[in-house]
Amino acid sequence: MTRLGLFGGTFDPVHYGHLWTIEAARLELGLPEIWMLPNPYPPHKLHVPMTPYVHRKEMLRLALAEFPALKLSDTEEKVDGPAYTTETIRRVVAELPPGEKDLWLIVGADSLVELPKWKNPEDLFEYARVAVLRRPGVDIREAPAQYIARVRMLDTPLIPISATEIREAVKLGRDTSEWIPESVRNYIMEHRLYQ
Ligand code: ATP
Repeated sequence: MTRLGLFGGTFDPVHYGHLWTIEAARLELGLPEIWMLPNPYPPHKLHVPMTPYVHRKEMLRLALAEFPALKLSDTEEKVDGPAYTTETIRRVVAELPPGEKDLWLIVGADSLVELPKWKNPEDLFEYARVAVLRRPGVDIREAPAQYIARVRMLDTPLIPISATEIREAVKLGRDTSEWIPESVRNYIMEHRLYQ
């Protein structure tokens, strides 16, 4: 049986709020592997200025060197235009070897609250079970009750950081070493990102 977790994001840039929580989720769910899916054109951020995908993907690749069970997946690169999570999961399922599958889609608590805005959110549950990472400042009760009832709430650590705050900190020349791997910090400096 294929047992796999999927974790999508913009990763602009990837930070320990993603990495530590998703690794904790992997251990809690007992999954051998999690695929990290950077989204080239996140549908909900189409009008938001964003770092080019090549940089976001490369920073993620560098960060994952510290987390051998988290694998970079370029599945969403193959999509023409914005990649919607339900379609991505369908695509992943089609690419996996035949046989039984136990798939988990893992999302942050803020994403669960936003789920009604996703394209065909109901379809997600056909292909995967959904697990939710705790996130500071997000009240999960704001999510629709019918989704809360169907997801597994994880007991992952609360890491109070967002990519928005990292971008702001880099711009202001603040120390970000607590929140992002050194390799990612070096990449940001080398390519003068978030200036
Ligand atoms: P931004 O601040 O640019 O909106 P972000 O830090 O929220 O970015 P994304 O790449 O948009 O990061 O998030 C990918 C996934 O990771 C989402 O499901 C989000 O909820 C989750 N996530 C991000 N940061 C954390 C965190 N600190 N704790 C738990 N989940 C998180």
